[in-house]
Amino acid sequence: MNDLLSVAEALARVLNRVEPLDAERVALTSASSRVSAEDVVSAVDVPPFRSSSMDGYAVRAADLPARLAIVDRAAAGRPSQATLTSGQAIEISTGAVVPDGADTVVPIERVEVDGDAVTIPEPVPTRDNIREPGGDVEAGSTLVSPGDVLTPARLGALAACGVASVLVHRVPHVTIVVTGTELRPPGVQLAPGQIYESNGVMLAAVMEEAGATVTRLAASEDTEDAHAASLEEALASDVVVTSGGVSVGPHDLVRRVQARLGVEEVFWGVAMRPGKPLAFGCRGRTLVFGLPGNPVSALVGALLFVRPALLALVGNPDPAPPFRPGILAAPIQPRPERDDFVRARVTWSDEGALVQPIVGQESHMIMHTSAATGLVWIPRGVGALEAGSRVRFLPL
Ligand code: AMP
Ligand code: MG
Repeated sequence: MNDLLSVAEALARVLNRVEPLDAERVALTSASSRVSAEDVVSAVDVPPFRSSSMDGYAVRAADLPARLAIVDRAAAGRPSQATLTSGQAIEISTGAVVPDGADTVVPIERVEVDGDAVTIPEPVPTRDNIREPGGDVEAGSTLVSPGDVLTPARLGALAACGVASVLVHRVPHVTIVVTGTELRPPGVQLAPGQIYESNGVMLAAVMEEAGATVTRLAASEDTEDAHAASLEEALASDVVVTSGGVSVGPHDLVRRVQARLGVEEVFWGVAMRPGKPLAFGCRGRTLVFGLPGNPVSALVGALLFVRPALLALVGNPDPAPPFRPGILAAPIQPRPERDDFVRARVTWSDEGALVQPIVGQESHMIMHTSAATGLVWIPRGVGALEAGSRVRFLPL
C-alpha cells in the first residue's frame, strides 16, 4: 500500500465506472425521490383558465364604487354560464372560472351584501385577484429534465399538469455479504471469541436510504469456498458490498476470491482513516465494493463511496457526498499522511455549524460514532488545527 489513492481520486475512479441503470416508466404515485430519465413537457396551461384567487365578487372595475345586482354564483368546478354586464356582480369562490365580462374580483371582506345586492364602496384595479391562464406553467414548457430528483414539489407540478407517469432510472439492487467466522446474528448466545454481526443492518440502512433495494446474505465464514458461494450469488446484483476480509491478514480472502470469480480490481487502499483497506472492482456492469470489517470503517467507506455510486446509478448528476462548511469547536491533531474523517457532533449557531469531535475515534467504536451527527474531512497534509478553524463536514 505504498501508493495509496486520495479519497477524491478513489471516488472519481468509482464514479468513472458507473453507468446509469436502464429507465422504466412508473406511476407518479410511485415516483417519489426517483430521478427523471426524460424531459417532461407540459401539454397544458396551469391554471388552465382565468381563475379567481379569492372568495368574493366578479365585477367590472369601471362600475366601481357601486351597488350591484348579484346575478349568479360561480364555484370551483361549477362555472357560471352568464356573461357579466354593467351593473352586475357574480359571486365567486377561490378556483372558480372568472365569468366572461368580469375584469376584477373584489374579496368578500371588502363588500357589503344585502339580499341580491352587493355594495362595493371603493374602486379596485382591473385584474385584481385573477390568476391568468398559464401563469404558473405555459403549455410546452419543460417540467423536469433528465437528472432531476422527483421532490415533493416536482411531483406536485407534474400532477398539476396532468402527467400520470414518468420515466425514471431503475432502482439499484445491492447484495451485502458480511464476512467473518466470528460473526453471529444479534439475538443468539455468543460462544467465546464470537461477536455480534453489526455491519449488515447498518450498511443496509445506508443503501436503502440512498434508494436501493437490499438483499443481505448470511455471514460468510472465512474460507475461500464460503466466500465464493456468497459472492457468486451476490454478483447477480447491480452492486455487491462486502465487509471484512479485505486487509492483509491470513484470513483476509475477499480480494483473492473476487479475482477468482472474475472481478477486475480497480483499486485497493485509500489514503484515509478510518477505512484504508477499501477495495473496489467491477465484473461486467456490477460494481463490487470491499469495505473493511471494523464497523466505523465500513460506515465511512459506505458513505464516501457506495452511496455516491448508488446515486450515480440512478442518474443523479451530483452524487458526491455533500460536505458543508463548519467551524471546529475544539483543537485536533490529525495524522498528516492520510485524509482523516473525524466523527463530530454538529450544533448550529449564528456563525454557522459548530463541529465538536466526539470522544472515541477508534474504528471499532460504533456506539461512540452513533453519537456523531457529522463526519469532518481533514485532508492529508493538514497539521494540527486550532479551535475556530474552518473545516468541511458531511451531515450524518
Ligand atoms: P476484518 O476487516 O475482517 O479484519 O475485521 C476487522 C474487525 O472488524 C474485526 O475485529 C472483526 O471482528 C470486526 N468485524 C468484521 N466484520 C464485522 C461485522 N459484520 N460486524 C461487526 N464487526 C465486524
Ligand atoms: Mg474478518
